[in-house]
Amino acid sequence: MAVKEFKAESKRLLDMMIHSIYTQKEIFLRELISNASDAIDKIYYKALTDENLTFDKDSYYIKITPDKENRTLTVSDTGIGMTETELEENLGTIAQSGSLAFKHDNEMKDGYDLIGQFGVGFYSAFMVADEITVISKAAGSDQAYKWQSKGAEGYTIEPCEKNGNGTDIILKLKENTEDEDYDQYLEEYRLRAIVKKYSDFIRYPIKMDVTERRLKEGSDDEYEEVKEEQTLNSMVPIWRKNKSELTDEDYEQFYMEKHYGFDKPVKHIHIKVDGTVRYNAILYIPEKIPFDYYTPEYEKGLELYANGVLIMEKCPDLLPDYFSFVKGMVDSEDLSLNISREMLQHDRQLKLIAKNIKNKIKRELANLLKENREQYEAFFKSFGRQLKFGVYNEFGAHKEDLQDLLMFYSSKEKKLVTLDEYVSRMPEDQKYIYYATGESIDRIEKLPQTELVLDKGYEILYFTEDIDEFAIKMLMNYKEKEFRSVSSGDLGFETEDKKETDAEEKENKELFAFMKETLDGKVKNVRASHRLKSHPVCFTTDGEVSIEMEKVLSAMPN
Ligand code: ADP
Ligand code: MG
Repeated sequence: MAVKEFKAESKRLLDMMIHSIYTQKEIFLRELISNASDAIDKIYYKALTDENLTFDKDSYYIKITPDKENRTLTVSDTGIGMTETELEENLGTIAQSGSLAFKHDNEMKDGYDLIGQFGVGFYSAFMVADEITVISKAAGSDQAYKWQSKGAEGYTIEPCEKNGNGTDIILKLKENTEDEDYDQYLEEYRLRAIVKKYSDFIRYPIKMDVTERRLKEGSDDEYEEVKEEQTLNSMVPIWRKNKSELTDEDYEQFYMEKHYGFDKPVKHIHIKVDGTVRYNAILYIPEKIPFDYYTPEYEKGLELYANGVLIMEKCPDLLPDYFSFVKGMVDSEDLSLNISREMLQHDRQLKLIAKNIKNKIKRELANLLKENREQYEAFFKSFGRQLKFGVYNEFGAHKEDLQDLLMFYSSKEKKLVTLDEYVSRMPEDQKYIYYATGESIDRIEKLPQTELVLDKGYEILYFTEDIDEFAIKMLMNYKEKEFRSVSSGDLGFETEDKKETDAEEKENKELFAFMKETLDGKVKNVRASHRLKSHPVCFTTDGEVSIEMEKVLSAMPN
């Protein structure tokens, strides 16, 4: 049977391409700059193998030129350029990627990864432009060509003049509408911001003539406006640099520049992995809680870059909820992106990276606890609550990961201690890890129930946050030692002389019955006890749920 070819309605396809792939119009600039960077990469790569081509780094750059009068925005590069055929093939065919073909044809090795692969990014410029003119001269050719298109209707190609090889992409911007402002793409500050956001780490300089207001020479009150060519991007990303080249200040600077937070991070983690999935990451453990941290508005996530180009501002899948306070970025060459390059196609690589990152954060926090207690405590005061939620949530699935990062106030040390510290100094005859719950340390210290345990010389952990007891119930035990509330009926050591209390109960039978009746269902029983020393009465619980937990549970919305 003869196989028939699919026909595509190119006009409609182009229309779809332009209007439904991208969520933000501003990314057109990222796409054009990425293409320009690929074009320079290609000439650089060719120069490595072709003796007739030389690569002088200074003469390779990308330039952005807004022209308010004519409402055009031009993105130029001094890259490899396109021949007439290439213009036809690459810009006249949707989903034709010259860059992908180049990668295959040249068997490009690691480190020369081009950004382009889908052959659609170029058309995103039609989101903001009515007409696009491309003037291009291929390296090694004498003739330049002009490609011109108003979108779906088609395009024209004709010979033209151009100095030097490379490509100029000239966008005739759309007229403003009620809900869309296209003039913004003519404003220097906007262009600079978009470049910074998406293309800061493009390897080649992205230049623009910037208007500067300066004092006139010889005057101290008269200003003049001068145009000065500036490079907008930082080019070498800090995460590609060697750790040995970088100081703490460099990392702090990056934290500030990226607006990860206004505090000084407690710790930075720089990861370089060259394994099954290659990636670089810089992560920060903040010291202070962001104002919206414990609200539903807070969004966790790390910045995600594919080969130096920003893909996602907050990728939530890179962080587990219990480490949602971590800030930073991940850059990988190995991500398979979807066509809009806003999302990932497969999450296999991402999952691997996320797992690596999680383990690394865990280790670094454990190190911090060991090496800089003071800083760890500062961190824990801000985010300990989140770690405890992490123990409790998902039915305790992460408790093993988190139990050694927890701290509680100790009756013995009068400061925060870890479970490991508690257990390692338990006397041999002590059966349980004791805790007492209450609103504050002060209040707990006055609880009658603590006396008996303290008298035995045992340490008590003070739980002052509502999540504490829930987390501990989820842990169940630590190093085979069970947790036990000091209000529990069974404290694991002899507290009563049964005969004596029996006798006392008999003696006061009527009084106890009267008390129970008067309290009218508020207590289950009234009993004599020797648990008390300096207090006349106390409450005990005989179920799994403590009085404190009951309070939380009854306050929770159904
Ligand atoms: P992609 O970058 O994914 O390949 P694009 O639609 O962005 O897809 O670009 C299509 C093709 O057009 C590129 O692969 C490249 O061959 C060519 N191209 C686009 N811009 C330029 C440029 N500035 N210089 C040289 N070639 C370019
Ligand atoms: Mg592209």
